[in-house]
Amino acid sequence: MLRSILVFISMLVVTSCATPPAFNAPDRDLGLLWVNHAAEYEALTRQVYQSATDSLAEFIENPSWSAHPGQQDAGALPTAVILDVDETVMNNAKFQIAFERPMSQSKLEKWNEEHFSEPVPGVVEFITAAREAGVDVFFVTNRPCRPIDGSADPCPQRKSAIRDLGELGIETDAAHILLSEERGWDRAKIARRDYIAKTHRIIMLFGDDLGDFVPCVRTKLYGPCTEPATAASRLELVRKHSEYWGKGWYILPGPMHGSWTSQL
Ligand SMILES: [Mg+2]
Repeated sequence: MLRSILVFISMLVVTSCATPPAFNAPDRDLGLLWVNHAAEYEALTRQVYQSATDSLAEFIENPSWSAHPGQQDAGALPTAVILDVDETVMNNAKFQIAFERPMSQSKLEKWNEEHFSEPVPGVVEFITAAREAGVDVFFVTNRPCRPIDGSADPCPQRKSAIRDLGELGIETDAAHILLSEERGWDRAKIARRDYIAKTHRIIMLFGDDLGDFVPCVRTKLYGPCTEPATAASRLELVRKHSEYWGKGWYILPGPMHGSWTSQL
C-alpha cells in the first residue's frame, strides 16, 4: 500500500515537472535569451555579413547575376541590395525581453522612441562596404505605414525608421525605405522587391524571416498566395531555392518572432 502511494506521488511530481512553459514566457524563452546573451549570436551575424561582403565584387562585376528570381536583362541597371530592418539591421532583443505580451506595433514604436537602437553585429560594416562599392541600399520592412494618434503625419513610421537607422550610424532617406500598407503593398514583400527590380539589379537579399526572400510563408494569405503556408510548404520553399542560400540570399537568426510562429 505504502509503495502504491509513493508511486502515485512520484507520478504527480513527474506530471507537474513535465508541464511545458508558457510560449514566449520571457524568463524561459531560450531563443530570446540566446540572442540577448550568447556570444555565438554575434559570431553568426558577423559570419553572415562578412561572407556577403566577400561576395560583393563578384556580384557587382557579373551583369547577368540577380538575387531576385526572374529578374533578367538587368545588366545596365545600377546595383542594389535589400535588407529587412528589425532583427536584420536592428537588434531588438532588449525590447523583446522587456515588453509585456501580446506584441503590438505601438509598443515597439514607443520603445524605439525611448531607447537608442542597437545594430545586428556586422551590418554597419557591410553597408559601408556596399556603398563604397557603389551599391544602392534599400530597406524593406513590414513596419506599417499608417497614421497614429497625436500625429498629423500619415506615415510617421518612415521618419522613425530613418531615425532608428541613423542611431546605428546608417544614414538613409525616404526613397530607400519601403513599408507595408503604402502604395497598396501588403506584408508579402515580393511586390516591393519587384518595384525595386524595375530600376535596379538586385544583387543580395538579407532578412531574418523566410518572407524576406520568398512569398507565401504565412498561414494568412497575402500577395500572390492562394493556400495557407504549412511547415512542409515553408521547408519546400527553402529547398526549392537552395542555390541562393549564402550566395545572394543571407538569413539572420530569428528565434524571437516571425512568420515561422504562425505554424505553431
Ligand atoms: Mg525582421
